[in-house]
Amino acid sequence: MNAPSPVTPAAPITQDLLTIPRKLPETARRNLVGLTRAQLHEALIEAGTPERQAKMRVGQIWQWIYHWGVRDFAQMTNLAKDYRALLAERFEIALPEIVTRQISADGTRKYLLRINGGHEVETVYIPEESRGTLCISSQVGCTLTCSFCHTGTQKLVRNLTAGEIVGQVLVARDDLGEWPKPGAPKDETRLVSNVVLMGMGEPLYNFDNVRDAMKVVMDGEGISLSRRRITLSTSGIVPEIAKTAEEIGCLLAVSFHATTDETRDRLVPVNKKWNIETLLNALRDYPRLSNSERITFEYVMLDGVNDSDEDARRLVRLIRGIPAKVNLIPFNEWPGSPYRRSSWERIEAFADIVHKAGYASPIRTPRGEDIMAACGQLKSATERGRKSAAQIAAEARA
Ligand code: SAH
Ligand code: SF4
Repeated sequence: MNAPSPVTPAAPITQDLLTIPRKLPETARRNLVGLTRAQLHEALIEAGTPERQAKMRVGQIWQWIYHWGVRDFAQMTNLAKDYRALLAERFEIALPEIVTRQISADGTRKYLLRINGGHEVETVYIPEESRGTLCISSQVGCTLTCSFCHTGTQKLVRNLTAGEIVGQVLVARDDLGEWPKPGAPKDETRLVSNVVLMGMGEPLYNFDNVRDAMKVVMDGEGISLSRRRITLSTSGIVPEIAKTAEEIGCLLAVSFHATTDETRDRLVPVNKKWNIETLLNALRDYPRLSNSERITFEYVMLDGVNDSDEDARRLVRLIRGIPAKVNLIPFNEWPGSPYRRSSWERIEAFADIVHKAGYASPIRTPRGEDIMAACGQLKSATERGRKSAAQIAAEARA
């Protein structure tokens, strides 16, 4: 396997700074983005839509918002004028605001988005030759404190609403200009072809909103992303894993990162609650319950911590019997990070052992490093950190 070439900006990084009002205007109108079909149905009836028409109106409005990317009720031309006025009075179609957008030399785009309450989250778009992946956030900050993760140094501020999660997908499609043009031939190439819940936060600690948001994203009358093009990454919140299979059915990635409880306790502290054995037992059932093929084991390569040949051999023994692939993630440094990335030779030797045991073991190419958009580098600068660099280093040594 070839080591990815280091990312050196070939072109200057562009950064658009948009001016934003300091105080967002208060609005009493309800945002329709992120409502499930059932919630939208109820909202329309509450606003005075006759019950016998409500189902049809849901279908029409849904298509305008999620298929055509329309944000203004006045453009919903298959609805009567009076009805459009009523909708505009009661509802809005509101998205998170882009505060900054940075474009890396490798084409990766990082958006800093402002949501209600003035909080900020990051969303990253990663273009590749045959697909484009949008990495979205599920929380502002994170309650967990994985010692190698930048987001983990930030306090949990709050869960994102379903609307804010779906909103990230809509913002990216707006920015990329990815909405169908009426009358134009159907374009099958998708810019946002995959969604990964690998941004800020632990998605399974915000289960209901993540589920509702993914239902909207998967709906065939709108954005229509197949459940096999959505990957949810979890640090291993065991009680929610079977629920994810049953209620979302997307692909699952697990932040595994270590092959002994001792090391995993240190890297992913939630392991003290649900250890490796408990986690693996929950994972064994996932492919059957979700009707998906295999689980991705994410494994961050930390120099001298979890990257030995012995670790690689232990890893394949542990996951035996689980349909799996192992995604090796070269550690991405962040200011004050207490670890170093394993050498390319080490990563390749590790990958080789896993591969020879019969598991695909791709090495994830770091993308957008020059704009701090790579895995584990996300953190909103405006939120107060909970740990100093010295504290982080002391914990990692412990
Ligand atoms: N909270 C979820 C999803 C967000 S993290 C989870 O932990 O799975 C997305 C992925 O990036 C996880 O596999 C995480 O372990 C990894 N990651 C975090 N910090 C990293 C870093 N500094 N370098 C490389 N990968 C990192
Ligand atoms: Fe939270 Fe995931 Fe980072 Fe751990 S790796 S601190 S669970 S975002």
